[in-house]
Amino acid sequence: MEKFILDEERVKSCIDNYKRIKNDVMETAVKAGRSENDVRLMCVTKTVEPEYINPVLDLGADLIGENRVQEYCSKLDTLHLDGVEKHIIGHLQTNKVKYIAGKVDMIESVDSIKLAKEINKEFKKADAIANVLVEVNIGKEESKSGCNIEELEELLCQIAEFDNIKIKGLMTIPPICDEAEARKYFAKMHDKFVELQEKSISGVDMQILSMGMSADYEAAILEGSNIVRVGSAIFGARKYF
Ligand SMILES: *Cc1c(COP(=O)(O)O)cnc(C)c1O
Repeated sequence: MEKFILDEERVKSCIDNYKRIKNDVMETAVKAGRSENDVRLMCVTKTVEPEYINPVLDLGADLIGENRVQEYCSKLDTLHLDGVEKHIIGHLQTNKVKYIAGKVDMIESVDSIKLAKEINKEFKKADAIANVLVEVNIGKEESKSGCNIEELEELLCQIAEFDNIKIKGLMTIPPICDEAEARKYFAKMHDKFVELQEKSISGVDMQILSMGMSADYEAAILEGSNIVRVGSAIFGARKYF
């Protein structure tokens, strides 16, 4: 294994980026007519070494998101996670659910009844409740996971039947596009979110709308997001290995 050498400059830029974006998120919330603490900033930590994540957590960051189960589990012991909420945000294979049962605060990427069934089974075994968001494929892209918006309500009703799952809201990733286009997708998602809130479906607690990433978090906040998931704008471009 290559010896790890800490890049002090990168630590400094992670800290500066986090502070700037945290401030920006609060200001944008206010600009959108909401309170400054209405929108949570998630630090997306996939591929980032704990040495760069911990300085940001030490500043008071209170929400992280990881994509891969194996990477998530291997980092848990070295991260400064006191008071920090941990979400799984990547596509989740059913055979990986057992490794995170009872060990995450939320799974944001539930998009099928099959996955929900497995989550329910494994969290029951772990004597835990799974808080979940249902992921919507708002741009109907072949390459993306998430359910179609037309099937969303039916899926929510089915998942709501599981004893060990609590539905807390929705998550989406729009297609790669310019900001004006992205805002339309975010607005469409927010309309659906409000519509479902008003329906008060039994067992569905529609509180969270997780949308917006490094390139478009401001647009997402202006259209009603209350969790933005920011990775590269905080930690720098990702290296995959
Ligand atoms: C990687 C990832 C992010 C963060 O992406 P950035 O563009 O680096 O901010 C957000 N959400 C999900 C689901 C991701 O996989």
